[in-house]
Amino acid sequence: MESFIYTASPGRVIFGAGTLSKLPEELEREGRQATLILSTSFQAAEAERVRDLIGSRAVGVFTEAAMHTPADITERALAVAQNLKADSIVSVGGGSTIGLGKAISIRTGLLHICIPTTYAGSEMTPILGETVNGRKTTRRDPKILPAIVIYDVNLTTTLPQGLSATSGVNAIAHAVEALYAPDTNPIIKLLAKEGVRALAASLLVIVKDGSDLDARSKALYGAWLCGLCLGSTAMSLHHKLCHTVGGSFDLPHAETHTILLPHTIAYNSPAVPGAMRDLAEVLPESGGDAIEGLNRLLNQLGVERALKTFGMKEEDVEKAAAIAMENRYYNPREVDQEKLRELIRRAWAGEPAKTDL
Ligand code: NAD
Repeated sequence: MESFIYTASPGRVIFGAGTLSKLPEELEREGRQATLILSTSFQAAEAERVRDLIGSRAVGVFTEAAMHTPADITERALAVAQNLKADSIVSVGGGSTIGLGKAISIRTGLLHICIPTTYAGSEMTPILGETVNGRKTTRRDPKILPAIVIYDVNLTTTLPQGLSATSGVNAIAHAVEALYAPDTNPIIKLLAKEGVRALAASLLVIVKDGSDLDARSKALYGAWLCGLCLGSTAMSLHHKLCHTVGGSFDLPHAETHTILLPHTIAYNSPAVPGAMRDLAEVLPESGGDAIEGLNRLLNQLGVERALKTFGMKEEDVEKAAAIAMENRYYNPREVDQEKLRELIRRAWAGEPAKTDL
């Protein structure tokens, strides 16, 4: 076995159905008396539920969290936290709300407890993406990691079936790129394979019955493992492309990941045969072919396959390829602009992924 470095994520994880009820105990254990609760406006009712649960420990609710952590919203939330003399924050929601919690905790050192309600995995990463004047920058710092994560399966049953599917594939993408990351290791590979196996099987159930608690548990468990993969390894072409294409053309996060994944993996596949074997092993009915397995999974989930559906124009394909070539980053296979353009065109048009590029 080759030598490797594995950095375990610090923090405490509470997993199960109904675990939200543990929040008062956790705040008590940490000696916190003044908690600011964060959510999006869409999940304001969830934030109010948390306020009711922790009673006098809640000093306020801030419900303006938004995609890509815009700096002006962070400034407003910071002012609220300071005025209310908050000693802790609780973020209840998906990656957008957790991003706001991270942005506040890295600036103030406040204890951050996450209650994730999607499968995006941000709660397991020391990564924070923030947008200033429409420009997104991303940084990594171990201090960004939340202190405590409460996974309450019950809170995920309201996630619409379509968003559950794309959010789950977003998580699968974290694990797939971890399988061939330059800093991957045997522990991460175990987590990645188990995460994909759990998510692929459970998402197929969830798209038929979003209230199936067993499937919801398995999906959230898979999302946790896939989030750990994202937090522990360097990401390659797939994540970089999603950030540049999604950010430049204002495309929805989870849907962009879902559409691009089979194409980016097909592109990298000749350079990473071992990772493709690992992936094929854990995708249902792959017949030993990872790309076939991904194409089939997406078709069975009934997710949207074309970027043009989300407003991307055909002339943006060329621009997207050029933007994606601007910054250099690790990728197991050299990235060629012409091939990248064709890859993005296929994703734009909604064609199935092929390994011929
Ligand atoms: P999101 O947080 O933007 O949520 C999408 C919508 O669904 C929101 O309106 C939200 O309130 C709602 N929602 C969330 N959970 C719900 C539930 N259980 N029931 C009903 N509605 C629910 O979406 P996301 O995909 O979780 O997060 C995307 C954002 O997170 C992006 O900005 C992305 O860049 C970031 N992200 C960051 C990391 C990281 O490691 N830093 C990782 C993944 C995603």
